Amino acid sequence: MNISLLLQMAADAEPDRIGLVCDGRRWSYSALWRAAHGAAAAIKTAGCSHVGLLDESSEAAAIALFGAALAGVPYVPLNYRLADADLAALLQRIAPAYLIGDVARVQRLNPDQGHKTVSRSEFVAEAERLGAEAGEAEEHGESIAVQIFTSGTTAAPKAALLRHGNLLSYILGTVEFASADAAEGALVCVPPYHIAGIAALMSSIYAMRKIVLLPAFDPDAWLNLASGERVSNAFVVPTMLARIIARMDAGLRPDLSGLQALAYGGGRMPLELIERALELFPATGFTNAYGLTETSSTIALLGPEDHRNAQRSQDPAVRARLASVGKPLPTIELQIRDEEGRVLPAGERGEIYVRGEQVSGEYKERKALDAEGWFPTRDAGYLDAEGYLFLAGRADDVIVRGGENISPGEIEDVLMTHPAIADAAAVAVPSVEWGEAVGIAIALKPEQPRPSDEELRNLIKNRLRSSRVPEKIAVLPALPYNEMGKLLRREVKKVFAS
Ligand code: ATP
Repeated sequence: MNISLLLQMAADAEPDRIGLVCDGRRWSYSALWRAAHGAAAAIKTAGCSHVGLLDESSEAAAIALFGAALAGVPYVPLNYRLADADLAALLQRIAPAYLIGDVARVQRLNPDQGHKTVSRSEFVAEAERLGAEAGEAEEHGESIAVQIFTSGTTAAPKAALLRHGNLLSYILGTVEFASADAAEGALVCVPPYHIAGIAALMSSIYAMRKIVLLPAFDPDAWLNLASGERVSNAFVVPTMLARIIARMDAGLRPDLSGLQALAYGGGRMPLELIERALELFPATGFTNAYGLTETSSTIALLGPEDHRNAQRSQDPAVRARLASVGKPLPTIELQIRDEEGRVLPAGERGEIYVRGEQVSGEYKERKALDAEGWFPTRDAGYLDAEGYLFLAGRADDVIVRGGENISPGEIEDVLMTHPAIADAAAVAVPSVEWGEAVGIAIALKPEQPRPSDEELRNLIKNRLRSSRVPEKIAVLPALPYNEMGKLLRREVKKVFAS
């Protein structure tokens, strides 16, 4: 099977239905399908080893994804926000590629790599021109559909490989084919180089929704598009939701009565934020989706019913689930293991391992699956008695103080109970005595007085073990996040390095 099957099914079932809206242009499913074939023809003629995209979200991303699939070549969306030197290294690793997007930048960085470069508009025009000569899709189940470079926080970016079979088993196993309501629309505002952007395109096409693309996130544009296009489904990362809510709280209230489902994920959702969102959108079903690039996106989710129950319940255990990422998908097996690899019972914290058809766990350089097919997520977490999964930070973020493992999340949760604190991060700082000790960085709510260091230390001392009391404390105007809402702990650490 080939992921292009998703687009083919939509084009066969509803050729005239609008499949994609971008910058005012509306594409029917049949027009998209023809353009994907045209793109495949152009890619084949170029004879390149990869199809790269160095561009914001646009119809070119969707056409390139399916065009590359039809041509049997990996699609490699690149992060256009990378520094020149980092991007140049990635361009070298995928040479020679058929590269769509910022032609001038590619030529400046890698003039001699044999890449064929085309601008977005040239690519789309060529795909439409050649589209009339549509051919049959080939079988590619075991070949690579998408290659995504990880953000490379600890070492050189890893090239995560997702095969057609991985992506299709996620979509076919979790999304319903053809939405019953022809007017449904999905607002996609995540960048094309992130797995969430690719998953959103594929799942919306399989559900035969109209995809409304927002090339670069902005809360006002998001609210206007959601209302103007009567969007029914959307996905945001927590920082995007915070910015949307801030604009709504400031008085911007477009008609969002069509918004049936709002999914979020990619990073930790602050409890206060989701509680406010539930108040502001009483008729919308919320879903917390937890996943990784290497697992073809979502592996566990907390659905709308759980959100509503948690919001209304008086039972503290049910309310607490709002901070969980829900239950693993039916197609995913999940275990919590200790450092020796023993499987832990409910309530005990360890590393999350997953197994399933959608789990690739494969990089260009190596395979991270064990002999039985289990993939170590590097996320720490635990299951409650009912099987709800709670995340407890990334294994790489653990602070090891004199041999004792300290999860930053437990310290951050306590700090966030302070009325003046808007955001908090705990990181490892070098310590002569302990090897590593705790450093905390906080950002204050507007017009709040700065709590003294002693007050902050006492807050933690009264709630947690003394090893959690911070050695170093910094107050920042805001904590550093990337555009996907991930806290950049390496940047926080730099504050303590100076
Ligand atoms: P790198 O692996 O290079 O550091 P990355 O962390 O950005 O890059 P992704 O695959 O984009 O890689 O992100 C996956 C991680 O995001 C998960 O391991 C988890 O830590 C976090 N995450 C994803 N969804 C959620 C969620 N719903 N709630 C909390 N954290 C989440």
